[in-house]
Amino acid sequence: MKFITNESIKNDQFIYLSGNQAFDQNLLLDFDQHLVKNTVSFDGYTNAYNSKIAIIRGRESKPSIGEPSDICSKVLLDEKLFQMTWLIINRAKFSFMTTKQKVVAVPLSLRDAQECNDYFLAIKLDLYRSFVGFWTQHQRFTRRCNPITCSKVFVVDGHQKANRLVCQYKNVFDDTIPEFGLVQVGCLYTPLRKAPNIDQRFCQYHQPSMVSSNTVRVIDQNNKEISLDKEALIYYVDKDGRYNDALCNVFRGGVNNKSKISSYGFLATFLNCSVIVGFTEQPCSEGSKQTVINSFTIQSKGSLSLKLSIVRRVLHHILTILQFGELPSAMCYDCACTLKLFIQKHFGTDNMKATDFTKFLSSLSIAIDRFHAKNHKRHMCRTIMRPDDPSHHNIYDSINTQVAEQMFAYMSKFKNSFRGYSYPKSTIFFTLLFHLKNCMTTGISSFEQAV
Ligand SMILES: [Zn+2]
Ligand SMILES: [Zn+2]
Ligand SMILES: [Zn+2]
Repeated sequence: MKFITNESIKNDQFIYLSGNQAFDQNLLLDFDQHLVKNTVSFDGYTNAYNSKIAIIRGRESKPSIGEPSDICSKVLLDEKLFQMTWLIINRAKFSFMTTKQKVVAVPLSLRDAQECNDYFLAIKLDLYRSFVGFWTQHQRFTRRCNPITCSKVFVVDGHQKANRLVCQYKNVFDDTIPEFGLVQVGCLYTPLRKAPNIDQRFCQYHQPSMVSSNTVRVIDQNNKEISLDKEALIYYVDKDGRYNDALCNVFRGGVNNKSKISSYGFLATFLNCSVIVGFTEQPCSEGSKQTVINSFTIQSKGSLSLKLSIVRRVLHHILTILQFGELPSAMCYDCACTLKLFIQKHFGTDNMKATDFTKFLSSLSIAIDRFHAKNHKRHMCRTIMRPDDPSHHNIYDSINTQVAEQMFAYMSKFKNSFRGYSYPKSTIFFTLLFHLKNCMTTGISSFEQAV
């Protein structure tokens, strides 16, 4: 292990971690700005930088006879090393800002992919904990938020545009929230590429030859999830026993892109000031290659259960954030009616044990955001689920309930940067990207320490 100190980040102009290149901190900072403001990729940035340098050198040099003209070509910006250095330096700056840490350990060699992946896996949860803890309290240090409306409401939404190939093994469960039992989360690893005797649908850990044991328990759990979804489904069925799409037309219309190679996406929670306070990567492995359905689009009764298993994941996502930070007591979600019914049905049962921790959910004000509210036709959706209903005591007044849509529109511009990342580097990248975006939203420099 090597170490980076807060003093070196604060005072030194150049950073050397490993390999044959040292980096000017201003260059890394330049990339930060292009990343957050122009949604540039590492590949695009290093390409542009290198061709710029080549042209500048061409203009400036007057090569004399016998001098090799490509003398400088070997020291251009190396994409892989630049990317890894950027990740490590920003990981250090992140901890110096969000914690009282003054030193962070970093991998010895940035070119050793295995060492870096092990490192990312080891720090992932700590980083997320600090991220949630820090940004849920940004009201304390923001320089840009409106003090009257800052952090009054949180908005949860799903984002499906970050397509990349993920392992199709479903039976990975999370058990970190005891009140909620096991929740199917799927596998985030990249499937193995072409090689003899491998199944390309699965990652190195879930090849069929390796996962035959333990099947019985997994099937039990699958059945439990399916029956929970069916129970919840009853709420969507009209009194005459048919699912009625016109009743509560909450599902965005028809994107069913068969050419997409995976349905990877994420769930995210924002405060109404556009600060992102939590995210959960989702392999959404229900979809096969042929039937990838946008997990927030329901087109038939058959795929309705897909939407409902997402309700459990949304609650799991919210509770995970709550473990590390506080959330306001009012929430917006485009499918808030299902969520509310699900909580009413299951709170206090084995599916959602009533404790001091989960009590938050049963006392939460839940409303449909203003944009989607018009699609909801049921009685409850036209009354208590509306943000402006008197039962909410004006809590949603002057609140922008559209922040999630706006932020996702922004994030969909990162398609190119997202695609190149595989787990666990993807998680670290998202954490740092969202951190920098939040820094800009709140007017904080990424160099500030122990805020
Ligand atoms: Zn704020
Ligand atoms: Zn896997
Ligand atoms: Zn509704």
